[in-house]
Amino acid sequence: MVATPWHWQFPPIAEPLPLEEQIASIIGEVVEALEALQNGEGYERVAEELMDVKHRTESAIRNLPFDDDQLTAIKRGVIEKNDRRGYYGGE
Ligand SMILES: [Mg+2]
Repeated sequence: MVATPWHWQFPPIAEPLPLEEQIASIIGEVVEALEALQNGEGYERVAEELMDVKHRTESAIRNLPFDDDQLTAIKRGVIEKNDRRGYYGGE
């Protein structure tokens, strides 16, 4: 299983919250995604909220003391762990 190099998908936040608050804010976006699905708001709304999850997650990761090479190594480790657990196998 090959990990693609780490790259940012969203711009950095101008005035980020403290890390603990950033991590906690991810939960709110997960709830918004789940509610959008459960309320039948349509897949585009669900996708928007899941993008918010990704953006908030990425913003939290930006606060950690790792460069892109280190993040690529961490990402690779996560993929290898999940591969060993049999999570992959689709396209
Ligand atoms: Mg949202």
